Amino acid sequence: MRLRLHQIKVRLEYEKPDITAAVAKILGCPESELARLTLLRRSIDARGHAKPRFVLSVDVDYLGDAEPPFAPGRVVLAPQEPTPLSRATVSRPRRRPVVVGAGPAGLLAALTLAEAGWKPLLIERGADVRVRRHQVETFWQEGALDPESNVLYGEGGAGLFSDGKLTSRSKDRGAVRQLYELLVACGASSDILIDAEPHLGSDALSHIIPALRERIGELDGEVRFHSALEALYIEKGALRGFRLSGETEVETDRCFLATGHSARDIYAVLAENGVSLAAKPFAVGIRAEMPQSRLNVAQYGHWATHPKLRAASFKLTRKPGKTTRACYSFCTCPGGTVMACASSAGQLTTNGMSYSGRSKPFGNAAMLVPVGPDDFGSSDAHPPLAGIAYQETMERAAFAAGGNDYSLPAQAFGDFLRSRPSTQLPDARSCTRAVPANLIELLPEEVADTLQRVLPRMLKELNGIRPEDVLLYGVETRSSSPVRIVRDPSTRQSPSLRGLYPIGEGSGYTGGIVSSALDGMASATHAITEGVA
Ligand SMILES: Cc1cc2nc3c(=O)[nH]c(=O)nc-3n(C[C@H](O)[C@H](O)[C@H](O)COP(=O)(O)OP(=O)(O)OC[C@H]3O[C@@H](n4cnc5c(N)ncnc54)[C@H](O)[C@@H]3O)c2cc1C
Repeated sequence: MRLRLHQIKVRLEYEKPDITAAVAKILGCPESELARLTLLRRSIDARGHAKPRFVLSVDVDYLGDAEPPFAPGRVVLAPQEPTPLSRATVSRPRRRPVVVGAGPAGLLAALTLAEAGWKPLLIERGADVRVRRHQVETFWQEGALDPESNVLYGEGGAGLFSDGKLTSRSKDRGAVRQLYELLVACGASSDILIDAEPHLGSDALSHIIPALRERIGELDGEVRFHSALEALYIEKGALRGFRLSGETEVETDRCFLATGHSARDIYAVLAENGVSLAAKPFAVGIRAEMPQSRLNVAQYGHWATHPKLRAASFKLTRKPGKTTRACYSFCTCPGGTVMACASSAGQLTTNGMSYSGRSKPFGNAAMLVPVGPDDFGSSDAHPPLAGIAYQETMERAAFAAGGNDYSLPAQAFGDFLRSRPSTQLPDARSCTRAVPANLIELLPEEVADTLQRVLPRMLKELNGIRPEDVLLYGVETRSSSPVRIVRDPSTRQSPSLRGLYPIGEGSGYTGGIVSSALDGMASATHAITEGVA
């Protein structure tokens, strides 16, 4: 019988025979009664003062005659192998479907459609990965922004220059596994199949994304870069096509809109065409950077420099208090870099990224405070878009505070707590194009006040981190979408525009690389299995 075992604890230096020995001990059988041992999951237990250990889950064939010591959550029968998602090819639609945006959601939607023989057209306003990397380097070094191809726009979407964490809360483990296996087939390390906190890094993504795109081409999909959706053509409540940049027109009755949440012009186009939109809560704040060596000590104590331990991550949360809002860490980038992000001239926001080795001397995380429609004020033209205006106010202020050249405003933690501008920044920091500023002036009062009150206590939880170790950058405004493009849960289409499938982070229904990619796969699969020609 095939068994699944959890909570197998092994030393950091473990080899495969150590796992077999541990499994045999748990099952109380000789190792000769075990076969086909498969490692499913690996996490680190660094709690307490004991030496950290790996905690594993495995599947194994048990060949013994005695009843195994079943125990819920520890030793159970292995579930049946999930059957792969059906790729039943249905009749192709009369007009080819169009996917707009080549981020995680758009790429996976296009690949799913291409695998079903639907020959999708994938359009992307930015450049391919190779050209885009060059453009982004120039932006970071000289502040030269291309509003069509930048840190947020272009092949790979916002996910390209990211930490590449593949964390997912999806309950559909089969779909997650399918996605991870696809990424491995496109060049990702097979570690992502077992690590509890899988991570790719921006360098790895730069190879994986073009390999994914090539698959779409091999399956007769077409990918067009430097091509932006500009206007919709609608007839009797149904999509008929659109105008692309360069006055090109495309006829289609099915569009998978995967434009991400930075494409504010698209929300305006949708609003003008009467597509149902709703304002949604999100979170804003600052990005905090700390020495990675101290974070490693905070997490791993005495064993911080052990070669088997990776750069330590952290998670901090604070519930709302009587006079403060909630606060939480977001998008932690161990051994990473704080970076400037912009997709519109004169507006600046910050974020964090890392490479696969996570070997840079600093770790960073956003520290965010939730905000919602009550904070946004009113937007005369289109009320659901008020959250965008709220973001833009902060981003314009950050651009000005950075010296109007896309340098990031930054502040020593102590100065932030005292609401006084920093006059100089430490030479040792990850983002070299940063200037001293007063971040308090850039944040809405409700956010600044909470951060000043709760951050000292939250950072204290990271044992050994001193206030003088912490450098803050601002402002972090694009944690998730401020707008939802309403969709009908049964058809996955807009209830106000037939044929429009809003997918990914820009739809307001997902956040992060994995959930956005799965969303693209799910909506494309839905359209295919509906089989409407
Ligand atoms: C710096 C940074 C670090 C991040 N780190 C992580 C992380 O570690 N883990 C994680 O899970 N998530 C991370 N995220 C979030 C993650 O990148 C997003 O959740 C994800 O990329 C959303 O995918 P998407 O396909 O929905 O949209 P996007 O990735 O935003 O892609 C949208 C695409 O649409 C294109 N587009 C926009 N408008 C048009 C138009 N009119 N016509 C044609 N094309 C258009 C854009 O150019 C873009 O390529 C990070 C984000 C950033 C910015």
